[in-house]
Amino acid sequence: MQNIQAFKDYMDQPRKVVILTHFKPDADALGSSLGLAGYLKKKGHTVQVITPSDYPDFIAWMPGNSEVLVFQKDRPQKARQVIEAADIIFCLDFSSLNRIHDLGEMVKVSTARKVLIDHHLEPEKFADFEQWDETAASTAELVYQLIEQLGDKSLIDPNIASCLYAGIMTDTGGFRHPNTTHKVFQIAGELVGLGAEPAKVSKQIYDTNSLERLRLMGYVLSEKLQVLPEYRTAYMALSAEDLKKFASQTGDTEGLVNYGLSIKGVRLSVMISDRRDNIKLSFRSLGSFSVNDLARKHFEGGGHRNAAGGQTNLTLDQTLQKFLELLPTYKDELTADEP
Ligand code: 5GP
Ligand code: MN
Repeated sequence: MQNIQAFKDYMDQPRKVVILTHFKPDADALGSSLGLAGYLKKKGHTVQVITPSDYPDFIAWMPGNSEVLVFQKDRPQKARQVIEAADIIFCLDFSSLNRIHDLGEMVKVSTARKVLIDHHLEPEKFADFEQWDETAASTAELVYQLIEQLGDKSLIDPNIASCLYAGIMTDTGGFRHPNTTHKVFQIAGELVGLGAEPAKVSKQIYDTNSLERLRLMGYVLSEKLQVLPEYRTAYMALSAEDLKKFASQTGDTEGLVNYGLSIKGVRLSVMISDRRDNIKLSFRSLGSFSVNDLARKHFEGGGHRNAAGGQTNLTLDQTLQKFLELLPTYKDELTADEP
């Protein structure tokens, strides 16, 4: 953070703090938010974490979860009041206000100080303080670095450490993606030293499936996954009926898109799912092919070079058609030899 001293001065007295995650928060969004919340509470601030929507059960174990306000589900009026009364609003793991849907307008008009802590590409400029680094693997590590910069590492307890560790673990795909750097291991190591338990966090996030979720996965892999070798592309399109048939809960489809990318030779994978309100797309790529560009240009979205998301207001079939029709434009890029 460039103006860290001004930030420090502002936070020198107790403040009313709001921390916001993006819509359908993942482990990094929620973990970085609850980790930051735990720290700021210890510093004497009043803190409310607000999520625009619900989130998967497999991240609801995080310490502080029970105090989270879910805007869409419970008490939107309460969220509005808390935001209106806030001295300072932290925006974590997103950098465009449309990712928080209806809350975006409230943040826009708020006179509170705004802090952006994020690692997504091409951030909007709306914050007074920015802890932004596109080379960071996760927002959780940016929160860790901020706490460290403020000289407060000793305040990180096992609860805070577990939340931050969870964000780092998941945004590196379990320490497997190319963003898994020396620095990532150093910070993850520090967090383990401070009380995060890797096996416990990993069990809670990756290995607490419902039988329905596994059946959905089996169905998608056997019936829905398609490969277009000439474009080195894999895709899967899930209808609202598919999701209903397997009693799909928020988070049940998370990670499915990675199976497409795991196929030998595939460089682009997309999962398209009908969320009833809209159609959601989830992209993954290997190497230089930028799904951030693809999502931004054609699907009202964005993210990172190798992991991005988007949406349309078309039907599922129309969305798939649109995606397939784009592929010839990208054929050279997709099939180029890469070292
Ligand atoms: P996922 O496919 O797991 O939903 O998201 C992959 C990455 O893209 C995550 O970093 C996520 O935050 C980001 N992302 C997902 N959907 C959107 C979107 O609609 N807009 C933007 N800007 N980023 C998104
Ligand atoms: Mn993230």
